[in-house]
Amino acid sequence: DFSVPPPGRNHLFVPGPVNIHDSVLRAMDRPGSNHRDPWFQPFFANVLEEVKMIFKTTKGKTLIFPSSGTGGWESSLQNCLSPGDKVVTFRYGQFSHLWVDQMQRLGLDVEVIDCRWGDGADEKKLEQILSADKQHKIKAVAVVHNETTTGVTSDIPQVRKVMDSLSHPALLLIDGVSSIGALDFRFDEWKVDVAVTGSQKALSLPTGLAVLAISDKALEAKKTAQLKRCYFDWDDWLNSFPNTPYTPIIPLLHGLEQSLALLKHEGFENVIARHHRLAEGTRRAAKAWGLELLVKDPRWNSDSLTVIQVPEGIDSGLIVKNAYAKYNLSIGVGLSKVAGKVFRIGHLGNSDEIMIASALAGTEMALNDVGVKVKFGSGVGAALEYWQSTSKPIKGRD
Ligand code: PLP
Repeated sequence: DFSVPPPGRNHLFVPGPVNIHDSVLRAMDRPGSNHRDPWFQPFFANVLEEVKMIFKTTKGKTLIFPSSGTGGWESSLQNCLSPGDKVVTFRYGQFSHLWVDQMQRLGLDVEVIDCRWGDGADEKKLEQILSADKQHKIKAVAVVHNETTTGVTSDIPQVRKVMDSLSHPALLLIDGVSSIGALDFRFDEWKVDVAVTGSQKALSLPTGLAVLAISDKALEAKKTAQLKRCYFDWDDWLNSFPNTPYTPIIPLLHGLEQSLALLKHEGFENVIARHHRLAEGTRRAAKAWGLELLVKDPRWNSDSLTVIQVPEGIDSGLIVKNAYAKYNLSIGVGLSKVAGKVFRIGHLGNSDEIMIASALAGTEMALNDVGVKVKFGSGVGAALEYWQSTSKPIKGRD
């Protein structure tokens, strides 16, 4: 019976949806209101401006669609490309796989660079493909920045470098659904053309907003892009601005305003550093348990989530099942090709050391439940040791 919540709370540590800050919950808890009244336009214009912080853009335009991240993908493709256009992309997990599937279903000609699930974007293969494309038939390079299936963050500056070294004019489209707002992402500096995130990840809101940053080059490409589009047509939004072409999700926009205010108050560089510390503590916990990460090359370590392999003969799904059934702890299952082989601990968004310590504590119990004999406190201890030795007072409390 899931209708009556157990005592305590659900300890939510999947890599999205994530824990929503109390002040964000309160910001969203409002009576209905009319977005055609005069308050809305300055409010919405301000949110579109403030959200630029997480993309590190001053040059890009931002758009906020009522949608999940998948709609953001669709929007980026439809507005920039035409049927049959060639796109190069990487597949190294379930999300990059689904984006490929979407590209194919929209009628694009997709060249997929398959990489091991646990590796990031293979820049050398990209270089080979782009250097052979003398006639610049490739219109876009699309990369999932943080693959949430495997806990891998690809090296976008390196991808950009390859494109620049060949003076290749393809657009650079980035899925930043589980990176933007948590990890260092530099829309302007990396010359990204479209970047997409979703509200239920680093922004720590409910699902329902796809947030996009768009370059001038992408806006230019839109003028000739022939893929059919309607709900996600950028023109409808740009022409209505600062009104909206259809009804926005007003409570979520209030939540976004508050969520951005929290990130700004913390200082966005501190937000990025916090994610690194929480991730590093989690990685140290996995090591203390004697378990391996799915990512092998530390340059691709993700600071959004940690994906941990279980020993042969153990079903990782049972660990996740026990965690929820016995300890009210939600951690992520292995998806698709790595189902049963890994589990995922999300540490992105509104989170801190003691919260992640609770996730590690619950995981230690669930591991022992299925016969992975880890010493109680070993992972928690390794994380605490790292966090305590690198701790500083919270801003304003020193
Ligand atoms: N891309 C990545 C990297 C994701 O992690 C997800 C969802 O987890 C998606 C895309 C799809 O986003 P949504 O489920 O919001 O449509």
